[in-house]
Amino acid sequence: MSLIVQKFGGTSVADTEKIRAAARRAIRAQKQGHRVVMVVSAMGKQTDVLLKLAAGVCERPPAREMDMLLSTGEQTSVALVAMAIHDLGSKAVSLTGGQIGMKTDNSFSKARIRSIDTRRIERLLEEGNIVVAAGFQGIDDDLNITTLGRGGSDTTAVALAAVLGADACEINTDVDGVYTTDPRLLPEARRVDVISYDEMLELASLGAGVMHSRSIEFAKKFSVPIHVRSSFGDRDGTMIVAQAESESAAVSGAALTKDEARVTVLGVPDVPGMSRTIFNAIAAQKIAVDMVVQNVGAEGKADVSFTVAGDELDQTLRAVESIVDSIDASGVTHDAEVSKVSVVGLGMADQKAVAAKMFRALADAGVNIQMITTSEIKISALVPREQSAAALRAVHEGFTLDQRPADAKTWKEIKAEAAVEADVHDVVSRLQNDALEALTLTDIAFVGGQARVTLDGVLDQVGIAADVFEEIGQAGIFIDMIVQGFDGEDGRTSVSFTTDEANLEASIKVAEQICEKHAMRGVRGSAGITKLSVSGIGLRSHTQVGTVLFDQLAEAKINVEMIATSELQVNVVIDSAQADTATSRLKAAFADALN
Ligand code: ADP
Ligand code: MG
Repeated sequence: MSLIVQKFGGTSVADTEKIRAAARRAIRAQKQGHRVVMVVSAMGKQTDVLLKLAAGVCERPPAREMDMLLSTGEQTSVALVAMAIHDLGSKAVSLTGGQIGMKTDNSFSKARIRSIDTRRIERLLEEGNIVVAAGFQGIDDDLNITTLGRGGSDTTAVALAAVLGADACEINTDVDGVYTTDPRLLPEARRVDVISYDEMLELASLGAGVMHSRSIEFAKKFSVPIHVRSSFGDRDGTMIVAQAESESAAVSGAALTKDEARVTVLGVPDVPGMSRTIFNAIAAQKIAVDMVVQNVGAEGKADVSFTVAGDELDQTLRAVESIVDSIDASGVTHDAEVSKVSVVGLGMADQKAVAAKMFRALADAGVNIQMITTSEIKISALVPREQSAAALRAVHEGFTLDQRPADAKTWKEIKAEAAVEADVHDVVSRLQNDALEALTLTDIAFVGGQARVTLDGVLDQVGIAADVFEEIGQAGIFIDMIVQGFDGEDGRTSVSFTTDEANLEASIKVAEQICEKHAMRGVRGSAGITKLSVSGIGLRSHTQVGTVLFDQLAEAKINVEMIATSELQVNVVIDSAQADTATSRLKAAFADALN
């Protein structure tokens, strides 16, 4: 008998009528012959209401008590849903996180799932019940109640689908699928039929709030197909699966993290080990940093800039300020009024003009880019918050995301073509471990023979990045990583990119022309560098990846020249002479996580 997990988000159980509608949907699935597990969020905005209550009695509530409080939202809704099912004449049992045997670690407010004991759920299903499980919560070894982080019910649902070997995992929500960008921000966004795990993982971590990004880590790791659909209609929504919708499109979605903050540590001595101290202090708070850029300035001092989620700025500043003196840096600045706009696409890897196109779209809309970082399937630009809506619209339009690519396929077509059967044996063996959300690495590898080119003293003006990368593209030079930093000192920035060593001379020539045209300070280029990549799933949310990486490189006295992070890869650029040492150190340090 097939098993289906149906998750209902807050808006889908916001009032009694909606609760009864959710109950009816589950009963219908059961009558069609499925065993049904529901995962339910707190009603409407109840989690926000509870957060406000807490803020009313305590300025910085203890994390343990916060989780105790927030978990009541889901406890209320599962009980009501189970009652509604009874009232409609079917059998249901509601269960808290602890009662479904959802064991987590003890990091309150962002706990990770360790294991799930499915026996009780299976017994209740056997007895003909609809099981109504509370989303977002678990218990630690001491039976403390923990929560998984905002939006975490998605992760509960996908995790349950994985361990129960469900045939389907439905995410019932207030939109009828995944769109090319948040349809509330941009009405012209297009609903996609299919999106790949990798793309959804990046989009979710870059601000597409429709799915909790950790739920996609689970889905990818355990090959769980997800169906995102509307709670209020019967139409098919979007399938999140291994395959992408189109093979030709360079970009498949855009996302905005509106509430982002930039932090710059000024005058950091440019010697190995400094980044380690900075990022370890932040990682210790389990805060994920993004857009890390280091500008090497005068006198061997560097400015290290990075971004964090706006609501983690205070905690980040406290962490950084605690170590500033110990590394002999000259100070810390921040900007809380910035937003990050990103484009994501599996097809990006082989298309060189993507970055130039994005920067041109932003320039034409009059948007100034403060920082840039790229990785294999995404490009992010930091922009002033007041321009964030215009920026998102500009890139969405620039890549004509409102139009369906000519070669786009439906899920039915993709399913017919591909052997979608997961390797059951493989999945089962991974499920037997006691650390479901543990870090999973797939590879540690390096590409040597690279060169880096840096344009220094770039005026902080609209349109320069577009110009630079259009001209490089026109010269037929294939580039890999791009970073643009934030310069704390004179309002200028520097822009660096990597390319194959063979292109160094040509790149410098083009860069020098650009330099002259835009009155920049100068061009630097060097060959003999290597890009080292650690690949896996959910690397940004596992903050220890950065910690281990920086520790290993610092201990071997290896300087990190550039860094680019994404959900799928952490890339660092180092001197080629040190590539072998770095690789073997990392392989040893990550031996447990490599599979
Ligand atoms: P739920 O309470 O059901 O978990 P959420 O509010 O967490 O619902 O997620 C649904 C919302 O996600 C939508 O209302 C939409 O505004 C937002 N969203 C953000 N990005 C996207 C996207 N790319 N596609 C669809 N919805 C998106
Ligand atoms: Mg949600």
